[in-house]
Amino acid sequence: MRSIAIMNQKGGVGKTTTSVNLAAGLARQGKRVCLLDLDPQAHASLHLGVELPGNAPTIYHTFTGERTMQQIRRLVGPQLWLAPASIDLAAAEVELADTQGRELILRQALEQLLVVEPYDYVIMDCPPSLGVLTINALSAAREVFIPLQPHFLALHGLSKLLETTALVTRRLNRELRVSGIVLCMYETNTRLAADVSGDLQSFLSSSDPEAPWSQGRIFQNRIRRNIKLAEAPSFGKSIFDYAPKCPGAEDYAGLVGEVLQMEQEIAQGSPLARAA
Ligand code: ADP
Ligand code: MG
Repeated sequence: MRSIAIMNQKGGVGKTTTSVNLAAGLARQGKRVCLLDLDPQAHASLHLGVELPGNAPTIYHTFTGERTMQQIRRLVGPQLWLAPASIDLAAAEVELADTQGRELILRQALEQLLVVEPYDYVIMDCPPSLGVLTINALSAAREVFIPLQPHFLALHGLSKLLETTALVTRRLNRELRVSGIVLCMYETNTRLAADVSGDLQSFLSSSDPEAPWSQGRIFQNRIRRNIKLAEAPSFGKSIFDYAPKCPGAEDYAGLVGEVLQMEQEIAQGSPLARAA
């Protein structure tokens, strides 16, 4: 089982697009996948066609302890389950402020779910902040993927994000690794995009080998800017159902292939093996 938090505290970098299409793509390859929507904006839920009335049970109720994960997750496609979010989730940050062990609620809920329902992949779409919801994701996950838009401010904010993962690794989840960076909304043929990718690669390879990101890779499959990817959410469909032949579908299918290939490395004892 792999559990992957898709995280970046910036909004609009491609977290939800990557979470949804990676989850859908893995499910199409025969994996049992559960996608957790951890953003109060519920974009991942909407992207998969799930729009819920205010009182419907969602992942918010798992955070408050009113519902188990099994009670709120629903089948949204072949092999694909979704733990939906709703705007209520915005209140969780405040409501949990005084709760002991609030960082570990999701981890425990997920452990309980996995006892009764095995999944091959749990993908977590994080909100654009480093608050308690994101910390819960990092405590529950074994891997972090960071979507980045390779423009000149892309690396700005990355150190804060990496510090947070290092902190979580020390305090809450020793197994956590930043295993991949996904370049999103990639402009092919621009010097800038190539420069940013280069800078990023040298940053990763020159970091402290003990850092949780030192073995991270930049995925070869870059996600090009493609209007179909921006249209798909309003039809409540993944890119594979909305426009299976477009460049966006091609790029995400390539990413899915790379993610599946990592399974072999994990089996053969890469640093992620400890996490497997
Ligand atoms: P985040 O979850 O990080 O806020 P999103 O995945 O929601 O980011 O992406 C932000 C916006 O950009 C959305 O409207 C989305 O549809 C669009 N988008 C994401 N990736 C691409 C892409 N490769 N090409 C074109 N539009 C994209
Ligand atoms: Mg999002």
